[in-house]
Amino acid sequence: MYDEPERTKRWEGGYERTWEVLKEDESGSLKASVDDLLFKEKRKRVCEHYGQVRLGMMRHLYVVVDMSRSMEDQDLKPNRLACTLKLLEYFVEEYFDQNPISQIGIISTKTKRAEKMTELAGNPKKHIEALKKVVGVACSGEPSLYNSLSLAMETLKHMPGHTSREVIVIFSSLTTCDPSNIYDLIKCLKAVKIRVSVIGLSAEVRVCTMLTRETGGTYHVILDENHFKELLMYHVSPPPASSTSECSLIRMGFPQHTMASFSDQDAKPSFSMAHLDSSSGPVLTLGGYYCPQCRAKYTELPVECKVCGLTLVSAPHLARSYHHLFPLDVFRETPLERIQGERYCQGCQGEMKDQNVYICTVCQNAFCLECDIFIHNTLHCCPGCIHNQSDPHLGSNL
Ligand SMILES: [Zn+2]
Ligand SMILES: [Zn+2]
Ligand SMILES: [Zn+2]
Repeated sequence: MYDEPERTKRWEGGYERTWEVLKEDESGSLKASVDDLLFKEKRKRVCEHYGQVRLGMMRHLYVVVDMSRSMEDQDLKPNRLACTLKLLEYFVEEYFDQNPISQIGIISTKTKRAEKMTELAGNPKKHIEALKKVVGVACSGEPSLYNSLSLAMETLKHMPGHTSREVIVIFSSLTTCDPSNIYDLIKCLKAVKIRVSVIGLSAEVRVCTMLTRETGGTYHVILDENHFKELLMYHVSPPPASSTSECSLIRMGFPQHTMASFSDQDAKPSFSMAHLDSSSGPVLTLGGYYCPQCRAKYTELPVECKVCGLTLVSAPHLARSYHHLFPLDVFRETPLERIQGERYCQGCQGEMKDQNVYICTVCQNAFCLECDIFIHNTLHCCPGCIHNQSDPHLGSNL
């Protein structure tokens, strides 16, 4: 039933003349040529993100971290575990920045067991604290893919149908110790629409190929630390929603932060509902965010109201996920020769020397490749268009 993947391995393919792509510049250096290849790769990703109309904006994601002995290998500096934890910290921050109404949980696996480091939750602080705590912890034994995935599935399968259910496995070991047939588990994961992606730190493992292919995830093996970071960041953008996932309207509350002053005699300190399940114990505070429906108090957003279940977010938070749904149009690639007049980038004001420039289809301003990538990956709006909007003499062409 499970055939070999159709994709042929690179070494099975034809003879590739990879060196012919590279060209020396005047000084005999290959750097320009290699940089060019890297940039093209990056730009390809800009285009890839464009055009997805339906996205899973409410995400429930479990990150499984392999903590088996192989994580002590030093091919990543200082070792695989320390490097992974550092990147994950960054990932958690980026994830919540881009997916403000989503949740994350972390699972670790070693000595044939899987354990939850953090439960699914929407607050980055807790996860980052948990990641910091395991920095010095010894890695031992073998990981268990089966136990980790079934632990994640137990929680994820109860998540509402309009949210995306995802697992990312950071897998360092080449073996896994499973108590039962993992192919049966893969079927279950597929049935409850959990998307599993794997980032391999060693080499391609067949079970992971099967797992990701069946559940619709991605599988990559890292080349170095930079590549690792890139692969991880790829998971920051929300995945396209599957055509079978449900749609639903979600009620949300936008509480304003109210600050009580000490001079106010009537103001009384009160507990935040968020402290109900925290181990740090309740803290009395003045002011906070009050649920518009039941007046329960919280000190941080976003949160799901523990009393009435309303999702509470701040409006700027929600606005941040807007660009995923309405991405900036891809700029038109144009050869430099066709540009008349001054050849200065409208982004960085630098002279454009590359063979291609990128032109915004709305304001017709030209940008260099670096600016094009920065605009599409970070800014999410065209500086040329905004400039036109704010300058009354030019009028608006939007
Ligand atoms: Zn409430
Ligand atoms: Zn530029
Ligand atoms: Zn523009």
